[in-house]
Amino acid sequence: MTTLAASVTDIRFWSAPDHTRVVLDLTEPIQYESYSQETPPQCYLEFKGTTLLTEKRKMKVNDRYLLTMSLTEVERGKVRLVLHQTRHLIVNIFPLKPYLDKPHRLAIDLVDVGQEKKEEEDRKKQKEVRPKGTKIVVIDPGHGGEDPGAIGPKKTMEKNIVLKVGEKIVHLLNQHQEIQAFLTRKGDYFIPLEARIKVAREYGADLFVSLHTDGSFNPHAKGSSVYSLSLSGATDEAAKVLADKENMSNVLGGAFLRPVSITKDPNLNQILLDLMQNNSLKESFRFAEYLLADIKDVNHLKYPYYRQANFIVLRAPDIPSVLVEMAFVTNTGDERLLNQNEFQDKMANTLFTSIKRYFRP
Ligand SMILES: [Zn+2]
Repeated sequence: MTTLAASVTDIRFWSAPDHTRVVLDLTEPIQYESYSQETPPQCYLEFKGTTLLTEKRKMKVNDRYLLTMSLTEVERGKVRLVLHQTRHLIVNIFPLKPYLDKPHRLAIDLVDVGQEKKEEEDRKKQKEVRPKGTKIVVIDPGHGGEDPGAIGPKKTMEKNIVLKVGEKIVHLLNQHQEIQAFLTRKGDYFIPLEARIKVAREYGADLFVSLHTDGSFNPHAKGSSVYSLSLSGATDEAAKVLADKENMSNVLGGAFLRPVSITKDPNLNQILLDLMQNNSLKESFRFAEYLLADIKDVNHLKYPYYRQANFIVLRAPDIPSVLVEMAFVTNTGDERLLNQNEFQDKMANTLFTSIKRYFRP
């Protein structure tokens, strides 16, 4: 008799432009065997010593890559997950560690490698076709998919607010003749932190802004703050704690570590890299000062100066990069503001103003 060690307690999916991610919630880590077939395109996973503790058995997905997913207990202690695909896809399966309220999880990425490549090439093309003098700004809405970011008392999720404001900023910037703006993520799915930098570099970004809303166990903590990278330790303990928390995004959201070539370009020598990094940092500080000066007209500043810590997402050596915490989603007043279209517009306008100032000092 097999011992029933693990249970599947939930199943969900996230649709990205180049892949669909299926996630199982588990009471324990599980062993699996996976099989793929081409006609009809589908993949299935089998789990031994596992039971089903979810009512979700057959789900319609109908996104670009997945038609349906079904969970069945084929015999006592043996669960099968069948994913009916729209086309042949590469399957990457990896466990996600428990963190905060997230249990053990298993992520199954169904990746369209052709589409992934195409998007990368499209981004690189933008760099070549831009009119001379055009500045490229990449706005990075933090979190997404499995990683909701901070959550407010009214269940407002950071990932949704930052996407809305990000879209507004990009819209404003793209009305400006000399600026072109792009988002790292266009929907509710997760992008690993290192991959966000990669996207920015493919676009040839002149400026990178990562958008966030803060969270705290202290419900009274409120206000906006601005951060840049530090290579030599954080400004203070609170900045370090924040960077650690933002960096946990990879654990929550699920970073499948495929080799991403960011700083390890063999053509770049270390001296050149240091020079670029120094210049990018200086420029990040200049932009951070503009942001603080402008944001204080829209919201109370938590700190009157920018602070520094080791944020993974700000590590591009050649792109000035800043992280903005727009307000505390965990504070009742700030949460209400963050949900207001008017406040979102004001915040987007403020960032737009600062970005314009940055390029025309
Ligand atoms: Zn965040």
